[in-house]
Amino acid sequence: MFAVGHMALAYLLAKSSGKILKITINIPLVFVLSIIPDIDLIFEVLFSIQLHRGPTHSLIFAFLLFIPFFIFFKKKALPYFFSLASHSILADFFIGGQLQLLWPLSTRELGASQFGIPLVMINDPLNVALEFLLFIGAILVMLKTRDILKFLRSNLSNLLLIIPISTVLLPTFTSYPLQVPAILVLPHLFFLILFIIAGLIVVFKRILL
Ligand SMILES: [Zn+2]
Repeated sequence: MFAVGHMALAYLLAKSSGKILKITINIPLVFVLSIIPDIDLIFEVLFSIQLHRGPTHSLIFAFLLFIPFFIFFKKKALPYFFSLASHSILADFFIGGQLQLLWPLSTRELGASQFGIPLVMINDPLNVALEFLLFIGAILVMLKTRDILKFLRSNLSNLLLIIPISTVLLPTFTSYPLQVPAILVLPHLFFLILFIIAGLIVVFKRILL
């Protein structure tokens, strides 16, 4: 999935699990967790090694990472775990090929296609349409729950959005030709502008003033 799909999927998951568990979720943190497995792409570029869809996409690794948070925050950690885990198990496992889902227990690459489910590539119209729908769904929920307004408040956690801005959103637009299909350009641009505005509000209100 592209960044928009990962973020929208994680937001909808965290929001619904938060509602069931009666927990208010930190939205910037959910967005960061949803895209953090793809940090391996940066290591690939920096060190010229093949890493993508490796350890950072492992469900076991995600769970081990979350053990301290489950101990300290108990059920409050669940929406965040879902946000991180959704990247691999609900998105990349079905879309774009295989990943090291069980690292470090096994380095074997797994994907839905090995279980009889047809392989869907990232540029496949089915995936593009799904990501667009997830984006629309996330925006509708953000509007209905007024979560969208949280980006306009000077919450320090909005500074976390610098991570998706710099790792996935800006690189999408700085490389030519655009890496995302035309229909997903606007959703990427929407998140990029919203996150930049949120970050600038914090900088001006909290730091400069
Ligand atoms: Zn990924």
